[in-house]
Amino acid sequence: MADNVGTSFDIVILGGGSGGYACALRAAELGLSVALVEKDKLGGTCLHRGCIPTKALLHAGEVADSARESDQFGIKASLEGVDMSGVNTYKDGVVSRLYKGLQGLVKSRGITVIEGTGTLVGSDTVEVDGTRYTGRSVVLASGSYSRTLPGLAIDGTRVVTSEQALSLTDVPGKAIVLGGGVIGVEFASAWRSFGAEVTIIEALPRLVPTEDEAASKALERAFRKRGITFKTGTPFKSVATTDSGVTVTVESGEVYEADLLLVAVGRGPTTGGLGYDEQGISMERGFVLTDERLRTNVDGVYAVGDIVPGLQLAHRGFQQGIFVAEEVAGLAPAAIDEQGIPRVTYCDPEVASVGLTEAQAVEQHGADAVESLTYDLGGNGKSQILKTQGFVKLVRRKDGPVVGVHMVGARVGELVGEAQLIYNWEAFPEDVAPLVHMHPTQSEALGEAHLALAGKPLHAHG
Ligand SMILES: Cc1cc2nc3c(=O)[nH]c(=O)nc-3n(C[C@H](O)[C@H](O)[C@H](O)COP(=O)(O)OP(=O)(O)OC[C@H]3O[C@@H](n4cnc5c(N)ncnc54)[C@H](O)[C@@H]3O)c2cc1C
Repeated sequence: MADNVGTSFDIVILGGGSGGYACALRAAELGLSVALVEKDKLGGTCLHRGCIPTKALLHAGEVADSARESDQFGIKASLEGVDMSGVNTYKDGVVSRLYKGLQGLVKSRGITVIEGTGTLVGSDTVEVDGTRYTGRSVVLASGSYSRTLPGLAIDGTRVVTSEQALSLTDVPGKAIVLGGGVIGVEFASAWRSFGAEVTIIEALPRLVPTEDEAASKALERAFRKRGITFKTGTPFKSVATTDSGVTVTVESGEVYEADLLLVAVGRGPTTGGLGYDEQGISMERGFVLTDERLRTNVDGVYAVGDIVPGLQLAHRGFQQGIFVAEEVAGLAPAAIDEQGIPRVTYCDPEVASVGLTEAQAVEQHGADAVESLTYDLGGNGKSQILKTQGFVKLVRRKDGPVVGVHMVGARVGELVGEAQLIYNWEAFPEDVAPLVHMHPTQSEALGEAHLALAGKPLHAHG
């Protein structure tokens, strides 16, 4: 199938982040010739400034908390301090090992990596530094950037984006996080573990506002206990920087002071100035519009990842990239159900979910047709051992399948793998109830919740 004659390929992919490189790997596996255009580093946001470095920070925070709280477990240890240069070395080491691995993988699959800034100059052509690369299909995968608010200037020192926050050389004494979504609460959590005083300011009425309301409430309770301050329903008005810090004023007139302001108000699509407009690609607020087969309105041009409206998650990008590669290769893969994509917020405690929130289920199916059950982690042995609190909440269609799973608690992110099978296979609680869950694990809580919803609770009140 390959017809690579230097600048002519089966697929040309613009952007080597999660969506782009996954597409490249799968396409090459299927025998297609692939050009992958990347102006910075393969791996994109997720590997260099997103998922991986933030999770390393959160893990370092967990180590700090373990030392600080060791007494609860009868272990005599104390936290002497947090050496951010050591934390950064650890974090950067993880990133660079994975980066090396990814570069090797891409090379070993025979993918042509073109270093430089690409522009779409025709429906089948991407130009990089004056050279034109044509593809029978073109995949737009240019990713996203940290947004800010009108009048809120990022200075990189006192007012920072998540990217800049990843390379702080000191733990801020006092930090304000603007935005209580996934990125905001993850940084708040890590910084609190490192000993910072943290205040989250969120315009919407609750933290992690896209999650089930019960998850937001549980997270807010846990954050309160951890001494993380948050002001929800509090729109930002302005910020002033001084030599020693920032002063943030909110709409109500209240003023908050800190050493640092992290702006975590969402991510915008990187689509401006790349020729998309000129080639007539349909866009809305900068996002590239696609159908469920990830086709743009221009024949032969696909889009994947954060530039496509929907969840901005690395594993969604991977899956979309794989989907497009298979589609182009003629395998006719099944369309991706966005609701079936698991979501994890890796703060402490973690929040994990898949499917519909209870409110969404009620909206879709009507209140009378929806049933929910919450299993408290208080009844789960392993969670008691870990001293974590939270729950597993199931939402089902009455006499129908489970349509949503929502969890809060330490390590529950790992449980969403099973939850996504339940959702995506449209399992009934009665199908899951007989499946055996190992004891003592947190996965038992999922099993117990299904037992209870199937009308045969074990370690739960009926
Ligand atoms: C702080 C933070 C934490 C996150 N944590 C998680 C997490 O834990 N789990 C999770 O699933 N997701 C997480 N995400 C989201 C995840 O990083 C993104 O969803 C994912 O990276 C999107 O992949 P993408 O391929 O669409 O774009 P990107 O990863 O942004 O890649 C796009 C690539 O295109 C390149 N590019 C852009 N324009 C051009 C051009 N003109 N020419 C050549 N190259 C170009 C860029 O350099 C970049 O490498 C996090 C994001 C952030 C910011």
